[in-house]
Amino acid sequence: MNEYDSARLAAFLEFNGALPAADIEKADAILVNTCSVREKAEENAIARIKNLKEFKTKNRKLKIGVLGCMAKNRGESLFKIIPFLDFVLAPDEYSRLPEILLGSMAKEKSEDEPFAKLSNNYSAFVAIQSGCNMRCSYCIVPYVRGMEQYREPNSILREIEATAVKGVSEVTLLGQTVNGYRYKGLSFAGLLKQVADIKGIERIRFMSPHPKHYTGELLEILLGEPKIAPHVHLPVQSGSNSILKKMKRQYTRENYLSIVEALRSSNSLYGITTDIICGYPGESEEEFEETLSLLREARFDSAFMFAYSPREGTPSALEKEFLNEEQKKERLQRTIDLQNTIILERAKLMIGQREKILLESTSRRNSSEWIGKTGNFKKAIVKAQPSFKEGMYVDCVIEGIKGHTLVAVPSITPSQL
Ligand code: SAH
Ligand code: SF4
Repeated sequence: MNEYDSARLAAFLEFNGALPAADIEKADAILVNTCSVREKAEENAIARIKNLKEFKTKNRKLKIGVLGCMAKNRGESLFKIIPFLDFVLAPDEYSRLPEILLGSMAKEKSEDEPFAKLSNNYSAFVAIQSGCNMRCSYCIVPYVRGMEQYREPNSILREIEATAVKGVSEVTLLGQTVNGYRYKGLSFAGLLKQVADIKGIERIRFMSPHPKHYTGELLEILLGEPKIAPHVHLPVQSGSNSILKKMKRQYTRENYLSIVEALRSSNSLYGITTDIICGYPGESEEEFEETLSLLREARFDSAFMFAYSPREGTPSALEKEFLNEEQKKERLQRTIDLQNTIILERAKLMIGQREKILLESTSRRNSSEWIGKTGNFKKAIVKAQPSFKEGMYVDCVIEGIKGHTLVAVPSITPSQL
């Protein structure tokens, strides 16, 4: 999401007359986009910003600004801890940037509204929703990003068409509860159908859906439309119904597992990844073990796992924590250890499979290898061939695994013989 926001902002600034600097030493301004979702994210951002001081000493005219969620969350107080900052701008204030940086008001949006700059030529993120109306008890996002707003379908489709014309074939639709999308009678499933009709788009992904918004109509298109990749990142957070209730997640373990079952019913290799929070306030050992048992049952292909981090201003931050940092870390480690064994088992199931791999780049470690992704979102190494190009789809057979990565061999099609 932040990557996309930065790319969109870069396009907006160029539209208003700014240019990207060739390197940081030559920049007139440095903008730091930030995340507030966990304490650690803010700490990292602050450390990175403090490191920018040397550029300020070399170039007195340089402007340094903080953007994103931390700008909203911490506001003016950031000047106290980072005195050399020039400005702090929250996401709802970005229209002031041209004035601050270029001394001119933002240009009026026109038909050719600036779309996010592409970070590569084959895959693009496109936000379809901003904000979030859920109020998960631990989460700061609704406070820093505001109420849900859905983007007009025409603008979304025009952005995707524009990227497809440039050669992009994979698109990832973004939103905090992306499958809750609705716009004047158009549902998320309806939008997906329209995206699938765009010429040049071969692979459609989306992130993050919420279990509450899985309708029959949505499941039907997910399983029936071949352009929609067989992978979903579906954050579950906990396997315990009592914790899910305290978290205000609005689904039960059983609801969640029924979605997993529906997705894997016709394709057992359907990729499902998730987010887990360990050590929510009051989480008992039994409740924690229910998360472990959910991992065993759901068999996630991968997971982002976090120790609970209290965020000031959220309801759960007022609840007493019985676990100290070490105890939360210990639960986190047990979760990671279990999930690592599951990742490996899931990867092994891929051996012998035929897969279309989207080539992303040559491997940093070994230039005779390419790195790409399968439809179910697994990383694969493919032995380089002279015809390989970034953004190409290659039919492969999975021959083995190296660590958690698949090793794929291109299968020769009759036309290549
Ligand atoms: N909208 C998405 C999640 C966005 S936040 C959803 O609801 O599924 C990304 C992830 O950060 C969450 O899934 C959660 O696992 C983690 N997270 C959010 N707040 C957190 C907190 N206070 N402590 C630890 N992890 C947190
Ligand atoms: Fe946060 Fe919940 Fe909204 Fe996700 S759905 S962004 S976890 S409040």
